[in-house]
Amino acid sequence: MTSRLNRLAVAMLATALATLGVTVANPSPASAAMTICYNTSQAGAYAGTANQAASIWNNATVNLTLSANCGSNLRIYQITGGGSYAVRTSLGNGRVYIDTQQAAQYSPLRIMTHEIGHILGLPDNYNGNCAILMSGGSAGTSCTNPYPSTTEANRVSNLFAGTFSATERSTDRSADIFRDSWPAALAPVS
Ligand SMILES: [Zn+2]
Repeated sequence: MTSRLNRLAVAMLATALATLGVTVANPSPASAAMTICYNTSQAGAYAGTANQAASIWNNATVNLTLSANCGSNLRIYQITGGGSYAVRTSLGNGRVYIDTQQAAQYSPLRIMTHEIGHILGLPDNYNGNCAILMSGGSAGTSCTNPYPSTTEANRVSNLFAGTFSATERSTDRSADIFRDSWPAALAPVS
């Protein structure tokens, strides 16, 4: 509590100085990027895909850094059947499951960046627009875009802004499960 109050005080001081036109190079160390350690030990064939997705998110956002195998904020699993999905236990924490059968139909990298997007706080948005990452499978199997839109990336950056610690964040919401983002392809007409 004390450190939180201190950080709040520092942030308020920085705001006050900014109002006065004073530039503070590093107003609050506590607002440094939150590291999200992802674990690919059970990601099977998709460990490399997870690394690519992490780079995409790191390049598109500020205030957070996805880092490989330094811990287990986020575990990546390869599964077969049942559909790809994400379980967010709190912002930046949870599990992502990549279904090999769906990854044979849809772009594995788009699935990975989408499911990680849930862990980073984004909901689904099934508008069929391939430029929107969180449109998921609604954009069809031909859509291979793995990049969040500017709006999506900025939303994530904003969610990770501020001075709350990972522990403090973890208490502010219950678990969320995001399923059925990737509808099965229609069975071939016989
Ligand atoms: Zn989804």
